[in-house]
This record gives sequence, structure tokens and C-alpha cells, in this order.
Amino acid sequence: MGAPDSLEWIEGELRAIRGENLFRTLTEIASGQSPEILIGGKKHILLASNNYLGLSTDPRVVKAAARALSKYGTGSGGSRLVSGSSDLHAELERKIAEFKSTEAAILFSSGYLANVGTIAALVGEGDTVFSDELNHASIIDGCRLSRASVEVYPHLDTDSLRRMVSRSRGGGKKLIVTDTVFSMDGDLTDLGEICSISERHGCMLMVDEAHAMGVLGKKGSGATEHFGVEDRVPVVMGTLSKAVGSLGGYVAGSRSLVDFIRNRVRSYIFDTALPAASVAASIEAIGIIENEPGRREHLMGLVNTFKTGLSEMGYQVLPSESAIVAVLTGEPEATLELAAALRELGIYTPAVRPPSVPAGKCRVRASLMATHTEDHILRALAAFKTAGPLAGTS
Ligand SMILES: *Cc1c(COP(=O)(O)O)cnc(C)c1O
Repeated sequence: MGAPDSLEWIEGELRAIRGENLFRTLTEIASGQSPEILIGGKKHILLASNNYLGLSTDPRVVKAAARALSKYGTGSGGSRLVSGSSDLHAELERKIAEFKSTEAAILFSSGYLANVGTIAALVGEGDTVFSDELNHASIIDGCRLSRASVEVYPHLDTDSLRRMVSRSRGGGKKLIVTDTVFSMDGDLTDLGEICSISERHGCMLMVDEAHAMGVLGKKGSGATEHFGVEDRVPVVMGTLSKAVGSLGGYVAGSRSLVDFIRNRVRSYIFDTALPAASVAASIEAIGIIENEPGRREHLMGLVNTFKTGLSEMGYQVLPSESAIVAVLTGEPEATLELAAALRELGIYTPAVRPPSVPAGKCRVRASLMATHTEDHILRALAAFKTAGPLAGTS
């Protein structure tokens, strides 16, 4: 016999996860992120993608990526500070800065890495972070890594935030950090109010535009534009992996902030640069976002139709001002049942359970895309009607 298995404890963990109905599995999709996808050879309507504007499959974006792929090859070959920095990376950073109306911007390999590294570099031991309780995991992990003390305020509760910040003593730096659109609910923070609190109390402010970029604002640049506070948010973080339809994260702000990140942030310094194809796709996609506001208008029209239809059927729809429509289901079992019933009816939308959401707040979380037609949404509503609003959700 071999040595005793030092990983045997994992079996116990897995049993516990299964016992709580929290075991996670993968669904293999045999097509791109289009409105209709293939799962196990069967067509489904995709209501689960962050590809909000449909740009990951847009022929112009795909062509731009293909051109870059032939010219630059597959991998970038190094970190930005060694050999991985191309003219395309610089062009995309200029494009993001212009789009977000900031002096400069800096790319990361993902939004997760942008949050973790930037927060950990902005604050440290002796400093304080004020963080919305529903902030994304990458923000939470950045706070933990920083060793700053973290004060969590109730979701969207700017009165509590104001009290916490004004009570806070001690000489360290203070950072307020928040998602603008929240990833699991789709609701929106009052950014004007957050800016006022931050300015009044001399805090740094960092916002995460992951689900807002491409969706909010007249030109689609996000919540800073929507609230008209582009010049009041010193640290703007976002991702290129959602509405932009590509891959990567960024921080936009002053030239000094960007210089600081390039010199100090470990998840930037010790990470390989994005491949050229992804960078070229992002450049093309941001151009389309700026020039085709009709995509956003169509998307928000679909969201309204969908939310109204669900509410009329008696579903408990969380308030949303984005492409995310979450139907509250409560416990994991009921959530899995609804998602499975919808799947049976050809609708693919995920059951979201802890730790992605708080216990008792499970949900089926739909996300809509500008490439959906009115007909897709009506078919989805019909399936929700057949699956039936669940007992026990009120
Ligand atoms: C998705 C997401 C991220 C992470 O971005 P990636 O590019 O996927 O790593 C960060 N913050 C929020 C709010 C997100 O929804």
C-alpha cells in the first residue's frame, strides 16, 4: 500500500458541500456567447452571460482579434515591465483613459487582479477601508491582503457609511471602495452621495465598474459618467471581460496613480501581459460601445420587458438598474429546482448560492444581452411562467 493519503480530509469537505446543496459543477457550452447556445446538443436561450452588448461574438471584434493574432502571435511573452508591453497595450490604455475621462489608465490580466493588487497597494496596516457588504469577492480579497482594518457598511447605506467615516479616528489613510453596479443584484450605488462623503472626510475613493461599463452612461462608459462624477472618483477600476466582450482589467485615474501602480502593484508587476488578440478585441469593442448607443437602449428595453413580466407572474425580482435581473428564491434547494425546470424548458440561467450570495438569499440570476431579440425574452418569460413562481418565496 502507498503512504496514507494526506488529502483524505477533502472527502469530508466535499460531503459537507454536497449535504448543503452547495456543490458546484460546470456546464459545457459548445458555442460562443450568443443568444442561443448548445448544451449537450440541445439549443438553449442563454440568460447567463456577462457579454451584455454581444460584443464577444461581434464579427468586427473577432476580426480585430484575428488580425492581431496573426501579427503578434498567441502569447505576449512576458510581463509588461520586461518584454510583454506592445504598442497595442499602450493604445488600449489611452483608449480606456479617454473613454473613462481620466488622465491615464493601466491594464491588468483580469479585473480580479486589478482589485486585489490595487487595494493592497493603496492601503496597509494602520489604514482603514470602508466597504459595502455586497462588494465583489476580489475587493474583499484585496482588503484582506492589504492588512488594513476593514469596516463593512450595510448594502447601499450611505447614512451608515457617513457615520462610520466620521467616527473613524486614527492617523492612517482611509479608502472607500464600492461596486457601482452590484454583481449579484444588479442595483446601483448612489455615486454622487459617495463622492460627497469621501470628499468631506478626506478619503480616497475607489469604484468597481465591472457591470456598469458599456451599460450605463450616455456614451456607455459606466456609472461615473451616469452620475456625472468622472472628475470626482480618483480610482476607477473596471473589467474588459464583461460588456467589452474580451479579457482583462484596468484602473483609470491620474498619471501619478498609474505610475504608482506600475511600480508598486504586485499583481501588475509579476504577471504576464495580456495577449494581443484580447487587447485588439477590447480596442475595437470600446469603439463600438461609443458609436452604437442603440445596443444599450435595446438592452435596457429588454430588461424592462423581462422584469415587468416576471413581477406580474408573482416572482420576487430584485431592484436592478442594469442588465442583471435576479429572481429571489431563498434556499438552495428551491433555487436548484427552478434553474433545473428552466433548463428543461430550454432556458439556461444559473442558480446562485452561497458563498456568492448571503445565506437565505439564493436566486436565479438572469443576465440579458443586446443580441437577444424581443422574441427570446418572450420565450424566456413563457418558460418562467411554466416553471411557476415558487412557493415559499414570500
Ligand atoms: C467580474 C467582476 C470582477 C472581476 O473581473 P474579471 O475580469 O472577471 O476578473 C471584479 N469586480 C466585479 C464587481 C465583478 O463583477
